[in-house]
Amino acid sequence: MTRTGVAIALALALAAIGLASIVRITGPSRVPTPSVAAAPAVGLLVPVVGVPRAALRDSWGEARGDGTRLHHAIDIMAPIGTAVVAAGEGRVEKLFTSDLGGLTIYERSADGRTIYYYAHLDRYAPTLAEGQPVRAGQTLGAVGASGDADPGAPHLHFEVHRMAPGQPWWQGAEVNPYSLLAHPA
Ligand SMILES: [Zn+2]
Repeated sequence: MTRTGVAIALALALAAIGLASIVRITGPSRVPTPSVAAAPAVGLLVPVVGVPRAALRDSWGEARGDGTRLHHAIDIMAPIGTAVVAAGEGRVEKLFTSDLGGLTIYERSADGRTIYYYAHLDRYAPTLAEGQPVRAGQTLGAVGASGDADPGAPHLHFEVHRMAPGQPWWQGAEVNPYSLLAHPA
């Protein structure tokens, strides 16, 4: 092929690429219509490193606080210091310390409709900050026994809250995380 031929072929190829990108940009939108009903949180990771799904135990509804409240969470047993990772993609919304939960993290899912709550942490990941985006599987902190956890049975207390539009981090409706973690769709 001559030098002119190569130049023409190159120009045609670039034109084709340009045309393709224009078609893609102006093509029909595939953005799904938002639904009011909360979508199920599919494909959640077990938020403690090294714990297989089969090892999880459903502790939803168990009595806590000498029978004064029900457990609306899952407890994932692990040695102190085991890495706690994000169950799904999202953003750190609130780092909070409470009497019962100890050192905690509220993470909002990427679609805004779910809060993942991690409690009884030993520590946060060194650079963790409110507003920080996190990937599924990213280390958020370490398992501990802060708050009212039994120091002899360190674990991650993990909750999933379905959020209505506009609800702040301390609201939402708790759902049982067990099936979401043990049998992800
Ligand atoms: Zn718990």
